[in-house]
Amino acid sequence: ILCNLQKFKNAQSITLDGRRVELCANIGNPDEIENALLNGAEGIGLMRSEFLYMNASSFPTEEQQFTIYKSMLERMQGKRVVVRTLDFGADKHVDYFELPKEANPALGYRAIRICLSQKDIFGPQIRALLRASVYGKLAIMFPMVISVDEVREIKAFVQEQKQQLIEAGIAVSDSLELGVMIETPAAALISDQLAQEVDFFSIGTNDLTQYTLAVDRMNEKIGHLFNTSHPAVLQLINLTIQNAHKNGIWVGICGEAAADTLLTPHFLSMGIDELSVSVPSILPVREVVCKLDLSQFQG
Ligand code: PEP
Ligand code: MG
Repeated sequence: ILCNLQKFKNAQSITLDGRRVELCANIGNPDEIENALLNGAEGIGLMRSEFLYMNASSFPTEEQQFTIYKSMLERMQGKRVVVRTLDFGADKHVDYFELPKEANPALGYRAIRICLSQKDIFGPQIRALLRASVYGKLAIMFPMVISVDEVREIKAFVQEQKQQLIEAGIAVSDSLELGVMIETPAAALISDQLAQEVDFFSIGTNDLTQYTLAVDRMNEKIGHLFNTSHPAVLQLINLTIQNAHKNGIWVGICGEAAADTLLTPHFLSMGIDELSVSVPSILPVREVVCKLDLSQFQG
């Protein structure tokens, strides 16, 4: 199978009737970059930045983060790298940062909520990313957003950090993109307004499914209820894609559903621009895309 898939390595991800989709890699560690490229990744669609914090005994400094982001961008040689800012809380913890005990951690103090209330954690990551932006094609995305106000606060903070760097004589790329993850029903429902604030969306179907269906993604006892193909979830995905395009921005999917080849024709007919999947799924998804004829597909 692997051998047959190799012929798709340098192929474009384009359907028989000519619809193109960008096929990118989800990675949790920069060590995976070479393998992603070997498997035909057109970019990194989700770099989970938690590894920087997990493999440390204290918060990584701006300098340490800068070195790693710079190296990642250089190794990707101009292909886009979407770095997601720190997504702690719920299932993700480190020893040196004590989170409050909460009755509902998945609905609690996590991700962008931590970053916006603790700028001493957010600041070094944003500055490191801004400084690295001139070494390749960087996009920064923010997890767990629920409101336009949050996005405006994020943008103002990024702008302020950028201004400070520029005043200190440090270059920041003009083509840096800022985007949000659509992984709460709230974000999907107000995606028309959010799309006016950002350069792109990436739909996090893992959390979007959890919050739409009220099914804990970690709870095996109700694992059979965790269904990304549920019409409620698919409607929110479709709405997000239409609102992105109405406002002229691109939209991808980076949750596990992006690798579900039964859903590929649905996502493509909704108009998805990018699918980001784990490295071993890139070529199998590309093969399905290349054999698809959307004009023959009835969802
Ligand atoms: C998601 O929620 O779909 C997602 C991609 O993020 P994570 O799985 O890291 O929460
Ligand atoms: Mg998520």
